[in-house]
Amino acid sequence: MNCFDCAALDTATPAVALCVDCGAALCTRHAHVTAHWLTRTAVINRIVPIDPPARSIRCTVCQAAHDAAPAPVDASWR
Ligand SMILES: [Zn+2]
Ligand SMILES: [Zn+2]
Repeated sequence: MNCFDCAALDTATPAVALCVDCGAALCTRHAHVTAHWLTRTAVINRIVPIDPPARSIRCTVCQAAHDAAPAPVDASWR
């Protein structure tokens, strides 16, 4: 499979990842990697991030949308 964003530019680049949101195949140039922390609920309903962080890979479009979206209120540590 080739990179979806490169294909839009008439370039065939082998894909190395898939966007977690839209499923587009991506090359290293178009893949955006972000860390995100899984959580567990501790006593008194306190939500605690767990180390090490997990990984999300997004395309340029989904990464931009994700960055523009307001962060959830209870996730100030993300
Ligand atoms: Zn690409
Ligand atoms: Zn995407």
